[in-house]
Amino acid sequence: MTGITSTRLSDGRELMYFDDAGTSTSRAGHLTTDHRGLPPRGEPGEVRFDALTDEWVAVAAHRQARTHLPPADQCPICPTTPGNASEIPAADYDVVVFENRFPSLGPALGPVPEHAGWGTKGPAYGRCEVVSFTPDHTGSFSGLSQERSRTVIEAWSHRTAALSAMTGIKQVFPFENRGADIGVTLHHPHGQIYAYPYVTPRAGVLGAAARKYYDATDGRETLTGSLLRAEREDGSRMVLEGTHFSAYVPFAARWPLEIHLVPHRQVADLAALDGEEKDELAHVYLDLLKRVDALYPTPTPYISAWHQAPLDDVLRPAGYLHLQLTSPRRAADKLKYLAGSEAAMGAFINDTTPESVAERLRNVAVPPSSTPAAALAATPEGASA
Ligand SMILES: [Zn+2]
Repeated sequence: MTGITSTRLSDGRELMYFDDAGTSTSRAGHLTTDHRGLPPRGEPGEVRFDALTDEWVAVAAHRQARTHLPPADQCPICPTTPGNASEIPAADYDVVVFENRFPSLGPALGPVPEHAGWGTKGPAYGRCEVVSFTPDHTGSFSGLSQERSRTVIEAWSHRTAALSAMTGIKQVFPFENRGADIGVTLHHPHGQIYAYPYVTPRAGVLGAAARKYYDATDGRETLTGSLLRAEREDGSRMVLEGTHFSAYVPFAARWPLEIHLVPHRQVADLAALDGEEKDELAHVYLDLLKRVDALYPTPTPYISAWHQAPLDDVLRPAGYLHLQLTSPRRAADKLKYLAGSEAAMGAFINDTTPESVAERLRNVAVPPSSTPAAALAATPEGASA
């Protein structure tokens, strides 16, 4: 079982240690105090309503002062050393989640204004958390052990449940931006979790399509479930198939590299996965990332985005957890830039065919996982969570 220890940083932010299964007895050092004496946390930024699009925009000008690509010996998410009092007071850890010191949303919680129109604004309520995948400053998620991957999944699941229960939260979004080309401001392997006080524009579009399909089938079918079935029957865009999860390049992929990883069972979010599903996810997610990393001689920038059902009475019943992994990389030395058609009109033009990308991902040679799937499945911790 994943061991979880919660503590507070010197400015009151919550920090949680998630220990790999089997290592939780040696983690008393986690309760080390943060001696930095940080100043109190500031007020939230603001959200403004864009009447033209019916969408909220967060204005977070205070974030300009945040850390940007610090040298390795000043990394804020490495374990604390005598020369670097980092965000993580402990001398070692497995996985850590903590509230972002420079959040786009929060720390205060509450609802966005109702009946919004031109000129409507309010505090940028919500919560932004950082997830450090490993104490090692270099490397990437694809290089983690299967056991560590499982711990990260447990952390995502735990945080999804906790954030979903907080006042005013409408959507919980775990994600990873990988690579400076995507705008990463820290090299240390990490992800983030945003808890929004509104349903984001993209989730609103996907949610409306899902609900429409759900209603048209009298609630017997989900859109994502039907697409998964269609892709598996077709086969030409499949990347991998497991017992509980499958991954494919979608029929109408927008990005040069786009993969959807979908559970076979309809679940609303990561918190709804059972232990067996999480065990397999730890393996297939690593497999997927290894394939992406094996495509080119250098690491491929990507955005790994967990789409979870919004906390909305209308959208949630039709919601279906899935991952959308996208990359603008279209060749070893070429990135796709969102220009006129895509950025201005939202009309994507893909220079690759989904079938050829899927074939490359299926056939690429990947290094073996450090923990074979069969070995993990055989451990007694495997089914626990
Ligand atoms: Zn680091």
